[in-house]
Amino acid sequence: MNEKETQFYEGKAKKLFTVKGHPDEVIQEFKDDATAFNAQKRGSWAHKGEVNCAMSTALFQMLERSGIRTHFVEQLSAVDMLVKRLEIVPLEVIVRNIAAGSFSKRYGVPEGKEFKHPTFEFSYKDDALGDPLINDSHALAMELATEDEIDHIRHTALKINDILKAFFRERGIILVDFKLEFGRHKGEILLGDEISPDTCRFWDAQTRKKLDKDRFRQDLGGVEEAYAEMLKRVTEPVA
Ligand code: UDP
Repeated sequence: MNEKETQFYEGKAKKLFTVKGHPDEVIQEFKDDATAFNAQKRGSWAHKGEVNCAMSTALFQMLERSGIRTHFVEQLSAVDMLVKRLEIVPLEVIVRNIAAGSFSKRYGVPEGKEFKHPTFEFSYKDDALGDPLINDSHALAMELATEDEIDHIRHTALKINDILKAFFRERGIILVDFKLEFGRHKGEILLGDEISPDTCRFWDAQTRKKLDKDRFRQDLGGVEEAYAEMLKRVTEPVA
């Protein structure tokens, strides 16, 4: 029995609880709430928590089978996931295959430009500062991570990109970009957080229809349906 004990954190999309009798584990509960643009825009839609919990479960399990170490332990309910407790490295790790979002805005590159090589970047996880872009030397100087940890995170994130790109390609989905978070657990760096339409950009390969949080960010409508479609693509057997 893994019972929620005390809520010790509430973020924009998840709550975290300690687990009775298991100090090295945490339960993350996925909420239906969403924010965008550094929490200036807020919303909520039905089944978001369930989709993100189920999709993250399926993807963490698939990544583990491919040799990636993650914090995932087991899915406990529709919205609850048991994970290993991490000391989070305060860096958002972003990999891009196609220009969109802040990359397009920052560099004036039109959305949809495909890259020959994926890009890799860090943002400093600090809401008050608006998660600014940060480079390796800044992260080292600020002692956010060691050189070895940064190398390991970069290598692992690019490997995850290769695995996820192929996985989604088989399911008729283009993986445009995504954000990962990593943390330390008993001397090891593990992949943490979630992998969902909240943290990735997904486009239908045939129609290029957006099937992710951009539908909420850009008021495109059909958010709930897009999330449901993504869960279906991930969990249904490939034809
Ligand atoms: N992302 C995220 N959390 C953040 C910022 C970005 O999950 O706080 C994800 C986002 O959904 C997208 C990718 O990281 O899949 C790249 O986001 P981008 O830097 O383009 O920022 P945005 O346009 O979301 O502000």
